Order: sequence, then C-alpha cells, then structure tokens
Amino acid sequence: MKKYKINTNCLHAGYSPKNGEPRVLPIYQSTTYKYDSSVEMGQLFDLEKSGYFYTRLSNPTNDAVAAKIAALEGGVGAMLTSSGQAASFYSVFNIASAGDHVISSSAIYGGTFNLFNVTMRKLGIDFTFLRPDATEEELNAAFRENTKAVFAETLSNPSLHVLDIEMYARCAHAHGVPLIVDNTFPTPINCRPFEFGADIVIHSTTKYMDGHATSVGGVLVDSGNFDWTQNDKFPGLTTPDESYHGITYTEQFGNAAYITKSLSQLMRDLGSIPSPHNAFLLNLGLETLFLRMERHCSNALKVAQFLENSGYVNEVTYPGLEGNKDYELAKKYMPNGTSGVISFRIKGGREAATKFMDSLELASIVTHVADCRTCCLHPASTTHRQLSAQELEDCGVYEDLIRFSVGIEDVDDIIDDVKQALEKSAQ
Ligand SMILES: *Cc1c(COP(=O)(O)O)cnc(C)c1O
Repeated sequence: MKKYKINTNCLHAGYSPKNGEPRVLPIYQSTTYKYDSSVEMGQLFDLEKSGYFYTRLSNPTNDAVAAKIAALEGGVGAMLTSSGQAASFYSVFNIASAGDHVISSSAIYGGTFNLFNVTMRKLGIDFTFLRPDATEEELNAAFRENTKAVFAETLSNPSLHVLDIEMYARCAHAHGVPLIVDNTFPTPINCRPFEFGADIVIHSTTKYMDGHATSVGGVLVDSGNFDWTQNDKFPGLTTPDESYHGITYTEQFGNAAYITKSLSQLMRDLGSIPSPHNAFLLNLGLETLFLRMERHCSNALKVAQFLENSGYVNEVTYPGLEGNKDYELAKKYMPNGTSGVISFRIKGGREAATKFMDSLELASIVTHVADCRTCCLHPASTTHRQLSAQELEDCGVYEDLIRFSVGIEDVDDIIDDVKQALEKSAQ
C-alpha cells in the first residue's frame, strides 16, 4: 500500500475494500468463523496458518482498527483491549512476572498507579516510582538486576508533565529493557513516541481517539524495534511457550514477538477484548482525530491565555503556554500542540472552585476528559476525594485545582462561559 501521511491514514489505514465490498468497515458481530475441514482449523490453533477462529483472539472489525492505530503510531502491530486499564496491565505483564521489578514515573493516571502499586504488587511484581522530572542519574540508580521495563506517560494525566522520551529511552536501553509509554493525551497526531526511542505504546482509546465519549477501550502497540534476545531477561519471549505447542515467539514471529505473545497468550487467557461494535465506534472517532486534535489544541491555548490574564486565577498549567516549565519539552516532542487539557488554580480556594464549576453553562461536570465537548472536574472532591488536605498538597492536587478539558466548540463560546463562571466564583 502507498505510504500516506498520518492524516490520510486516520481515514484509510487498516481497511481497503475490494471491488464491490462495503466502503465503510463492517461490524463483524460474530464470535465464530466457519471452516470446511477440521484439519484447517487445527492449523489455526497451532498458529501455523493465519485466519479467524474465535473473536476473543481475532475479529475482522477489531483487527482493522488495531491495524489503523499501528499505522498511526508507526508500529509493527497492535492489539485492541476493552479498556485502557487492560492495555496498561498487559503492557507490563507481557514481560514481567512474580519476582520482577518495574520502574514507573509517579506522574501517571490514578487508575494506573493503583493497578501497579496495589494489584500488580499482589502478583509479586515490584515497582519503584520516580518523579517525572527525575534526573538521568536518579533514573539509572533505580535499576535492579530484575528490572524488566520502564513505564511513563508522554503527557501525564492530570499533572500535564511532558516526558523527556529520549532520556527515558536511553536509560531503559542502557539497562537492556524497553520503555513503555502511555500516549493517551497527545495521541499519535501530536506525538509519535517510537520516533524518539520508546518501544511499546499504550492508549486509553476512551479519550481523544474515540473522542465522543461513547466507548471505553484501549490499545497496545509494538514498535518492533526492541531486541528481546539481547539478554536473558525475557524468557517468555525467547524460550518455548509450552502452552502454545512449544512456540518461541522471537524465533517464529521476529520483531512482532511481543505483540503476538500478548495476543496469543494474555488475551487468550485473560480475555479483555472490545466488542466489534465498540471497535467500529472507535474507528469513526479515529477518522476525524487529526481534525479534532488541531481544534482541541488551538482552543485550549486560547482558553489558557484567557485564564492567565483573567485576574481570577493563581496558576495555569498548559505545556503549550510560554513560561510553562515543560514548554521546551513540549516544543520538541509535541510541536503541533499537546492536548486540550488545562489545569488551573482558582483564587478563593475550594469554595470558589465549587462555585465556578456549578456556574458553568456550556461546559459540563463529568468524570471524563478529552471529549469533543468541553468538560471539567474538581479532582479534590471527586477522583481524589479520599485524600486528606495534606495528601492532596503532596500529590499536587490542590483544593483550588480545576482540570478543564477544552472541547472543539467555538472558542468564543467556551471563553464566554468560563468568563461568566469566573465572575460568579468571586461573588
Ligand atoms: C483514562 C486513562 C487510562 C485508563 O483508561 P480506561 O479506558 O479508563 O480504562 C489510562 N491512562 C490514561 C492517561 C488515562 O487518561
């Protein structure tokens, strides 16, 4: 297939109908696939032949959407999951098991932090959490003999820290392990981590990729660049898998070993697949991703500038704003923009924050982010409500902090809404 630019791939990658076939990717809402002989089906089970046999492992709708996302990220393969949480879990569990250790940035989505710090610890995997702006020395010092991966978010939710991807990749590779990044907020439109040395990318597709708040979903993408055979840290990939007829993934599947194992072993056993209908909805979102991201970013920059000059706000965090501590990193890794998400600290504390939110007319209060409609959240009274005032301070979720996810509406309407709500917050 001709190599197109990423915007064209949003529309066309992953599905090329032949003569007379449906123009739009069909929803193959079928769990099973019919074959003429049992010999043929046996070969599918042994991974000797490729073909569909059961939707938990592969489905034409899901596979087309996964192939589109692999093309957008520039990877060799991708696997859809039923949620971003499942993608985060698989990304690490595919190469780490009891007795192993993983280094993670502490500036990650709360759900991911809990998955690593509580649930995966119960499975015997140890984690070290480092500040996202840790120095190269501090990062290097965190590695152990049993370290299997480094994990971070390219643009962190909710703290909006921009990752120095090249530095993190350099440290991971110096210790013979891959860098896994969550690229949910910038999306491949604004940041392609593989170009800077990341090895595995995951997304919560629930956010911008879907973009319309219809379907929870996730995806795991393999760059194909990491050499799993360079050391003996990854026996799951480099030695025979007895649960799959003695296949050695690196021998049989070359640079698609990681993604093939995640599908044929983890998805087979754990089974968090999206429904084909949800994959279809995700695909509709992907078709306009490049248009929406551009508008999210230009709107968000204008809203951030308005907030900064409004007189009602103490601090605005948006990496696209000159003066933001990560402005230079954002320019390097996300030159076309970061995302539509802004956070700011309103004057007048918790009471003003509540008044502001309750006064919004266009923007809605939701537990969601990265929707095409402007929405906002007060972390201290929702996602972080179990924390004490001191704990809130410690993790940077101040009582006056508002996370504002700028949508693609007319920016004048968004700013008018923010303006009238700010005025009421001070009354
Ligand atoms: C929402 C989110 C997740 C979790 O994804 P779900 O689809 O809600 O399971 C993971 N990472 C980031 C950065 C997120 O914003």
